[in-house]
Amino acid sequence: MSESLNKAPAQLKKNNINLEDTPLEPTVELKKLWNNIHTAMRKEFGEAIFRSWLKPLTLRAYYHGTMEVSVPTRFMRDWIQTHYAERISAMCTEQNPDVKRVQIVVVQNAILDDKPDESSKDTESAVANLDLKASIAEISSPLDQRFTFDSFVVGKPNALAHAAARRVCESASVPFNPLFLYGGVGLGKTHLMHAIAHVMATDFPEKVVMYLSAEKFMYQFVKALRANETMNFKDQFRSVDVLMIDDIQFIAGKDSTQEEFFHTFNALVDQNKQIIISSDKAPSDLTGIDERLRSRLAWGLVADIHPSTYELRLGILHSKREKLGANVPDSVLEFLALKVTSNIRELEGALNRIVAHADVTKQEITLESTQEVLQDLLRSHDRRITIDEIQRKVAEHYNLRLTDMHSARRARQVARPRQVAMYLSKLLTARSLPEIGRKFGGRDHTTVMHAIRKVEELMGDDAQIAQDVEVVRRALTG
Ligand code: ADP
Ligand code: MG
Repeated sequence: MSESLNKAPAQLKKNNINLEDTPLEPTVELKKLWNNIHTAMRKEFGEAIFRSWLKPLTLRAYYHGTMEVSVPTRFMRDWIQTHYAERISAMCTEQNPDVKRVQIVVVQNAILDDKPDESSKDTESAVANLDLKASIAEISSPLDQRFTFDSFVVGKPNALAHAAARRVCESASVPFNPLFLYGGVGLGKTHLMHAIAHVMATDFPEKVVMYLSAEKFMYQFVKALRANETMNFKDQFRSVDVLMIDDIQFIAGKDSTQEEFFHTFNALVDQNKQIIISSDKAPSDLTGIDERLRSRLAWGLVADIHPSTYELRLGILHSKREKLGANVPDSVLEFLALKVTSNIRELEGALNRIVAHADVTKQEITLESTQEVLQDLLRSHDRRITIDEIQRKVAEHYNLRLTDMHSARRARQVARPRQVAMYLSKLLTARSLPEIGRKFGGRDHTTVMHAIRKVEELMGDDAQIAQDVEVVRRALTG
């Protein structure tokens, strides 16, 4: 983490770094200092506030005791200024007394701050266009710089969604409308949407891209209603080239917002503008959303992201390890990939925790230390579910007898559920492979290993199996 700030007391002032004036690129020291402040802000203000307001602060420069940071919108700057700026300044000074103040400037997102066409004779419309972009920048949510295609690991469960996202960025045309991405929490929907926005910004800088959550869409709409500015609202939303709405399920049951969204949607589709939507459910399962809108949402390409497989989780962990530059043994990655299966966010969180812990304690990362550090997480996953319980639930789900779980019968309709039960036993209990084998009619541990691999593989290919596993898992973990 913050190597030089901790490492060499001789170089420290309180923390003792001589900050140079760096009006252009921030120096390494400055970046480290900023990292520490990030950590401090997170601790002091809590995760939710940090994520929504403070994380988007981007370090820009340091000069004469002033630390300059930027945010993408005026609205954010004003909010941070009134609510947090004083404290942040104090934190900076605590970290390094050289820093006397923090200046927050507005630097619009690269997507939105392109200049009006120089050659345009019609400066008036160019200025109007810039105004429009500025107001769109205020509505658009900031993009996470880390959510790029480069950092997205592709595997069977997300291959279709990934390919579709790529396709949308490829050409100036609209290949399908809308692109509808859906899947469970933490499986990469937002990541893919941001990745699209980043590519658009570079490859099609003239396009106006608007990205926001459905919740924010509603908020903007209600605000416009109250202020009697719905015309303005309509104009803004209808003038974009690409509209991305994240977590559309949020507008279920919110009738007037839906109505407005439906009109916006139709207007944009009519103009052949690209729409990208994410959701936690398939269009047909979006209860509380008007039938017309639901069927309209399914008109383009519907791409689902399946629950992750062991392979994909391992791939993601390898990629994150590389990015962190941390010394994490393969066995630990394998352990995490096997144990932390709920979603990718939690998986990343687990890896970050063990790396941070090793950093602080200056200890090597081992399987033992991992189990210790993640005790609470792993325990909540284990929650003392027994193999007997798993066997009962699986048998019930597949309409089998309990004895089929132990029997030697190898017919597919019995063998497959048995493999699912073995897989869940490994996943949800702390039992070893031989112990599990014994519980399944005295089978060998290699048979159990094979079953686990098989089920992992099938879950990527076969939506039915993935769903079966998920249903039983939910029934067991509550
Ligand atoms: P969702 O929007 O589906 O709830 P996110 O896009 O926020 O999920 O993803 C949760 C976290 O997992 C993010 O930090 C994201 O970068 C990471 N993540 C998800 N899928 C992948 C992937 N295939 N490769 C790399 N990171 C991923
Ligand atoms: Mg999301």
